[in-house]
Amino acid sequence: MSRDRQTIGGCPKCGGSHLACGYNHFEDGDLTIDSWEHKCPDCGFRETKAFRTDEEESIPDGLDTAVCPYCGRRPN
Ligand SMILES: [Zn+2]
Ligand SMILES: [Zn+2]
Repeated sequence: MSRDRQTIGGCPKCGGSHLACGYNHFEDGDLTIDSWEHKCPDCGFRETKAFRTDEEESIPDGLDTAVCPYCGRRPN
């Protein structure tokens, strides 16, 4: 399990500078979960996306799940 969180700013709802982009990586046997969250502490805006290898339909062909689907960054 690894986590990575960065303040990226530019909230799409309030324009605030505290929007955070969080990434969690989880592996257990054949299961890998990459999940992403954008969250704004100023206005409560939140969006999440999880890519699970046991739910093939959640991962489009060729998608790099280690890239944020919202802002395109990679975890550090
Ligand atoms: Zn906001
Ligand atoms: Zn992001």
